[in-house]
Amino acid sequence: MKHLFLASTLFPAMACAQPGQSHVHGTGQLGITFSGAEYSLSLTVPAADILGFEHQAETDEDRALVAGAISALSEPLDLFLPPDEALCFAVSANVTLSQAGAEAEGSQEYHSEFRAEYQIQCQVIEEVDHIRFIYFERFQRADKLTVFIESAGAQKTHNVSRATPSLSF
Ligand SMILES: [Zn+2]
Repeated sequence: MKHLFLASTLFPAMACAQPGQSHVHGTGQLGITFSGAEYSLSLTVPAADILGFEHQAETDEDRALVAGAISALSEPLDLFLPPDEALCFAVSANVTLSQAGAEAEGSQEYHSEFRAEYQIQCQVIEEVDHIRFIYFERFQRADKLTVFIESAGAQKTHNVSRATPSLSF
C-alpha cells in the first residue's frame, strides 16, 4: 500500500507517519507557541475530519476535495482568528497530507491526516488574548481540538470543541 500511496502525483511531498501512531476521528491537535511578537501554530488532524475520507484520492472529485482542503488549511487566520486589534498576519503556512497509523501487511485500513505549520506575526501581540476557532464552521466533521499552549516556558493543555469554539489566554 505504501508504494501506491507514494505513487500519488498530486502531492509528491507526502510523507509517511511513524508506524504505531493512531488518531481518533473527530479530534485533532493544535500546538500554539508564543515567542515575542509572533506565535506558531502546529495542526495535526485526521483527514476524515477535513475531507470525510482517508483513503487515497482516486477520483477527480476526491482530488478536488483534497485541493480545496489544502487551500482552506493554508489560510490560518480564517480558521484560528485572533482579535482584530492585534493586527496579525500569516507569515508562512505549510500544509501536507500524510499517511497515518500502523498499517499491517494486507490490512484494508488506511488512515491519513493533515499537518499544517503556521507562523503568525502581530503588530500588537498583547491584544492576542483569545482565539476564535472558525475551524469548526469551516470543517463540519471536526468536533474537537486538543490545544497545547506554550508561552514563556509554561505549558498548558485545553480542549476546544464545536460547542465552545473559543480559547482565552
Ligand atoms: Zn483515520
